[in-house]
Amino acid sequence: MNDEGDHLTVETAREMDATDPLSDLRDRFYVPDGEVYMDGNSLGPFSVDAEAALEHVVDEWRELAIHGWTDADPDWFSYGERLGGRLAPMVGAEADEVVVANSTTVNIHTLVGTFYDPDRGEKIVVDSLDFPTDHYAIRAQLRQFGRDPDDALRVVESRDGRTIETEDVLAAIDEDVAMVFLPSVLYRSGQLLDVETITEAAHDAGALAGFDLAHSVGVVPHDLSSVGVDFAVWCHYKYLNAGPGAIAGLYVNERHFGVEPALAGWWGNDKATQFDMAMTYDPAHSAGAFQIGTIPILAAAPLDGTLDIVEDAGGVAALREKSLALTDYLIALVDDRLPECTVGTPRDAASRGGHVAVEHPAAYRISLALKERGVVVDFRPPNVVRIAPAPAYTGFEDVYRAVEHLREILDGEEYEQFDRQSGGVT
Ligand SMILES: *Cc1c(COP(=O)(O)O)cnc(C)c1O
Repeated sequence: MNDEGDHLTVETAREMDATDPLSDLRDRFYVPDGEVYMDGNSLGPFSVDAEAALEHVVDEWRELAIHGWTDADPDWFSYGERLGGRLAPMVGAEADEVVVANSTTVNIHTLVGTFYDPDRGEKIVVDSLDFPTDHYAIRAQLRQFGRDPDDALRVVESRDGRTIETEDVLAAIDEDVAMVFLPSVLYRSGQLLDVETITEAAHDAGALAGFDLAHSVGVVPHDLSSVGVDFAVWCHYKYLNAGPGAIAGLYVNERHFGVEPALAGWWGNDKATQFDMAMTYDPAHSAGAFQIGTIPILAAAPLDGTLDIVEDAGGVAALREKSLALTDYLIALVDDRLPECTVGTPRDAASRGGHVAVEHPAAYRISLALKERGVVVDFRPPNVVRIAPAPAYTGFEDVYRAVEHLREILDGEEYEQFDRQSGGVT
């Protein structure tokens, strides 16, 4: 250990846990016994809060049946709008600019389909490191407009296979661009993009700016309204711990209220006239217009519980502060203890989301060896072990332990016992 590594002991990890103002939140989570859970950027764990909220709607369903739409507390009819209002401060939006609805991929379909206007320009700017479903949906929407996606998609390439340079995004934005649609945080390297600069550049070119916040919502604060982002989507089963397949979220800036959604449905109708059952759609004058069908209450209720945890933490800013301390500590440990690995995540806090990409040629097999030791991480091709010390339930000693396990796995070449073949969900 070198001098700089003197603070990287288990004792200092325990001291940081002892002074962590958020350490009590962990007791509200069902982190599987004996596991160091570092995969909350893929699926957050269950919590007593999510469980209570879910049991509450199950009880109401049993007791109220259809009366639950109006008589449940809170009522089911406006559940999506109400949850949107609770989420709004977490993304820096007005209450009526946010709603929970559909899945992330469906929300990309409806929002890109709504806001793509070939008269503004033909191109949609994306990047080469995007989460694939985003491209699948955008390409499908371009085909709906009779465009060849290979022509209309302008893909900003990565220079290093890990990150996207802001200047390369700006260089891709010109008068041929209708829309920029990018992630806030890249799912593999964890780079946090400069949402504000990109939005301004898009607007300067007469284009719209949309973002996929799946890897930042709940762990990185956003200022969507004041930055003027046009629209955004995200899921709630990652850092917001609302459960597998939980209802997703979306934001639409109020200047776009009243537009006709690409995927219209009765649940997006103005609530005052929804049950008039008119044959023509009358969009809600809010982000609520982008709901499609009946809200899946059982897939929305856990979020109502887990938002309590964020509020009790003091909001996303407090979670972000701890998250940065955890990832700083993780990066320092990797540098000090794991010289055979490379940190693929930007070191600058302003360019980093909530997880760290640890690169090694045997990453796939290392991720399996870690899992066998109870350290739950995931692998992303070609060479990344993603380690997500989610701030609501992860402590500094957990990070220390995860790196210790990794050190032992490398020392014993334990990963050699595993098949090189990759497949299935990791
Ligand atoms: C997790 C994730 C998704 C998931 O989309 P679903 O429709 O919920 O399956 C989409 N985009 C990004 C960037 C993600 O990280």
